[in-house]
Amino acid sequence: MSTTQPFITDPHPDPVSDTARAALLEDPAFGRVFTDHMAVATWTEGRGWHSARVEARRPFTLDPACAVLHYAQEIFEGLKAYRAADGGTTLFRPEQNARRFNASAARMAMPQLAEAMFLHAIEALVRADEAWVPGGDGSLYLRPFMFASEAFLGVKPASEYTFCVIASPAGAYFKGGKQAISLWVSDHLNRAGPGGTGEAKCGGNYAASLLAQAEAYRHGCDQVVFLDAIEHRWVDELGGMNIFFLFDDGRMVTPPLGGTILPGITRASIIELARRRGLIVEEQPYSVDQWQADARDGSLCEVFACGTAAVLTAIGEVRSGRGSWTIGNGEEGPRTAEIKAELVGIQRGTVPDPDGWNHRIGPFESQSEVHDVR
Ligand SMILES: *Cc1c(COP(=O)(O)O)cnc(C)c1O
Repeated sequence: MSTTQPFITDPHPDPVSDTARAALLEDPAFGRVFTDHMAVATWTEGRGWHSARVEARRPFTLDPACAVLHYAQEIFEGLKAYRAADGGTTLFRPEQNARRFNASAARMAMPQLAEAMFLHAIEALVRADEAWVPGGDGSLYLRPFMFASEAFLGVKPASEYTFCVIASPAGAYFKGGKQAISLWVSDHLNRAGPGGTGEAKCGGNYAASLLAQAEAYRHGCDQVVFLDAIEHRWVDELGGMNIFFLFDDGRMVTPPLGGTILPGITRASIIELARRRGLIVEEQPYSVDQWQADARDGSLCEVFACGTAAVLTAIGEVRSGRGSWTIGNGEEGPRTAEIKAELVGIQRGTVPDPDGWNHRIGPFESQSEVHDVR
């Protein structure tokens, strides 16, 4: 059962003051500062979704037997609200997040959430926390998630779930802005395998990636890149970002979605933008040996990682048990910069958006409108 419920807003009785908020927005970094409100709804077997509200952000009270704490039935999404030049607020392809959320839910044996209800939760929260959307290069990072909230230790899909959206103002994801990052090739720890949960956006995939990420740090690298789980030969993706390879003949290559890779919305958007310009984008397997060889002979010019949080991030250096290599001069290349500028421009409404990817949700005319979510 999946019913669409509107989110009724119950404004925070004591929100953060304008001065305190302005101070927090000055350098929010990523994921540490949170807004005044949250959207929350409950799903109960036989009843569907109910109790949908936007209310003061607060901790959850969980029974120690809460299913998610034991069996990790949990999924999430990540998207951003941007401050447009005219003072309004925009979202980037949020219906794609709604669809992927349901695809993740299906894989994790969780209930579906109507696309309209997902979008409504986000819009109602952004309206309530509109003052928290930073200007400039910043954005308001939105984190929808759902978890099994039934108190029961039996192993089965839960009979109760909590859906929630929280919001966190964000500056640049990687400190140091434009710099290229380094990657460590994980050749024995896997993130996902065939038939597993690699294409679902679930917390468990991240738990499985942390040890490899720690190994990357130990080798002096910023991020880990995972290979296929069977041959440890083909490049899959990073712990939380997809990857693209740019060649001197103009081609772009990215690993194909085959069940082990998360279908990134940034990835799909870059493919569409590049193909519209007449560039050749090949979704095909690319081996780590070929990567090393192509970087050495110079036919591989640029490599970047992409995702909502970091947009596009150039990869300058790769280290592995079999050696290290540099891509180009180890800095962000011109094509990476160009694609990034176009994507960021569309997201912020400063370049044309022929496909209607932007979803406007403001400016809000009055306080009463801010709190009338229907
Ligand atoms: C969220 C995520 C991405 C990027 O997806 P976007 O929709 O572009 O933000 C890539 N890989 C993994 C593992 C992810 O969880």
